[in-house]
Amino acid sequence: MSIPRIALVTGASRGIGAACAIRLADAGWDIVVNYARDADAAARVAAQVRERGRRALVVQADVGDEAAVLAMFATIDREWGRIGALVNNAGIVDMKARLDEMTTARWRRMFDVNVIGTMLCAREAVRRMSTRHGGQGGGIVNLASAAAVLGAPGMYVDYAASKGAIDTLTLGLGREVATEGVRVNAVRPGIIDTELHAMSGDPQRAVTGAALVPMQRAGTAMECANAVAWLLSDEASYVTGTVVAVTGGR
Ligand code: NAP
Repeated sequence: MSIPRIALVTGASRGIGAACAIRLADAGWDIVVNYARDADAAARVAAQVRERGRRALVVQADVGDEAAVLAMFATIDREWGRIGALVNNAGIVDMKARLDEMTTARWRRMFDVNVIGTMLCAREAVRRMSTRHGGQGGGIVNLASAAAVLGAPGMYVDYAASKGAIDTLTLGLGREVATEGVRVNAVRPGIIDTELHAMSGDPQRAVTGAALVPMQRAGTAMECANAVAWLLSDEASYVTGTVVAVTGGR
């Protein structure tokens, strides 16, 4: 079985997704760089992939929009064929708030992107990777969060709940496709120094949150990408349905 060396990274225009694109290119993968809004940033990531001698295909799609996800996979099928890896990285938070202050519109968008978007991309990936569907196998890595096990009280329990769903999805899907050549795992980042925190109204979170971490510092996007790359490598060949914490001990 020869897994196609084509990796789709969702939300790859910045932060952890961009680091995954670059780290996986270094590991010999051609990269589909997905983004939602920032085409220039996605193009810069694609340029860094090409500098590493790998191919890059930039595809815009809001992962919370089923038609857009289907169109993205159709583009990849047409341009490059079946993927061998999916990094389900695209995710959002919202402004810091208590649950009793939140709207259902906020929850629906949060779950559309973080949960349904992840499941949609996983479904389309399994349809292409699984030996049950004539595929050559592959790997899926979902970006979960320490929030799933900490609960994020007073910050964003809706986000924490959405990431709890990712932990469970990883366990269940990993077991479901375990005999079909597809491994499914998650990386659970702690406080990572990216622009995500600006979305919650706390752009300095990587600095202010460091005291909460046993290692007394935020992590880097590349420290998450290293775990993603390992999970997608043959070195992790007996690893599925599990979550790797990249949290500095938190
Ligand atoms: P980030 O810096 O905000 O980057 C998010 C990326 O996702 C951007 O490339 C953005 O692209 C893209 N994106 C956002 N909404 C999208 C959508 N609907 N469809 C497709 N792409 C979309 O975030 P990050 O910190 O790298 O986080 C990456 C993942 O790690 C997320 O799932 C997050 O929940 C998780 N995580 C992060 C931390 C942390 O401390 N940073 C901790 C735990 C878990 P555009 O700007 O082009 O829309």
